[in-house]
Amino acid sequence: MKLVLATQNQHKIEEITQILKHPELELLSLADFSLAPDIKEDGNSFKENAYLKAHQVAQLTGEIAMADDSGLVVDALDGAPGIYSARYAGENATDMDNNQLLLKQMAEISVNKRQAHFYCVIAIVKPDGESFFAEGKCEGLIATSPKGEHGFGYDPLFIIPQYDKTFAELGPTIKNQISHRSKALSGAREIILSLLSYSQPVLM
Ligand code: IMP
Repeated sequence: MKLVLATQNQHKIEEITQILKHPELELLSLADFSLAPDIKEDGNSFKENAYLKAHQVAQLTGEIAMADDSGLVVDALDGAPGIYSARYAGENATDMDNNQLLLKQMAEISVNKRQAHFYCVIAIVKPDGESFFAEGKCEGLIATSPKGEHGFGYDPLFIIPQYDKTFAELGPTIKNQISHRSKALSGAREIILSLLSYSQPVLM
């Protein structure tokens, strides 16, 4: 069975490839179709955005497509930056711009009110429009200053209470065991295994 990953992000492609490894599964990316579409992501929720991305790629390629949408949800900021996590500080914002804005918005928030979670939804959409979803959540606290060198995005500000370290301090091995994305990916793996069992030829 072929599955097209609706992302251009090489980090995500590598992580997904590792987790979804299966002899009957051929993982493809948009590059395999020489496509670099401007995929629209204008939904009102993580789930809607993941569906929109996977649906567009399934339509373009005629194959089953998978897309994720993720972000940081901060309780004290009424859920911001949420679906706007990548462009919190503006359309061309860097990770550092976004982190600085987050720290500024949280400046008055006391240490016991800094709860947040990362959230990830994965949509798997067939060319006929049938869709499946998996989600993952990772709870944490927003730090008062950045710490750690690993990862990307808000990792230097996201403390995992159980370790009292940020994702950027913990590094990829631990992060990949507990992250929102790895939880959503294990759900996606179950969906893909069931799609694979349907796509196997029946031996007579
Ligand atoms: P997207 O799912 O690629 O659209 O990512 C949305 C944005 O959420 C990223 O650009 C990051 O700012 C943030 N984000 C999502 N997952 C993580 C993570 O694991 N660590 C840090 N930031 C993340």
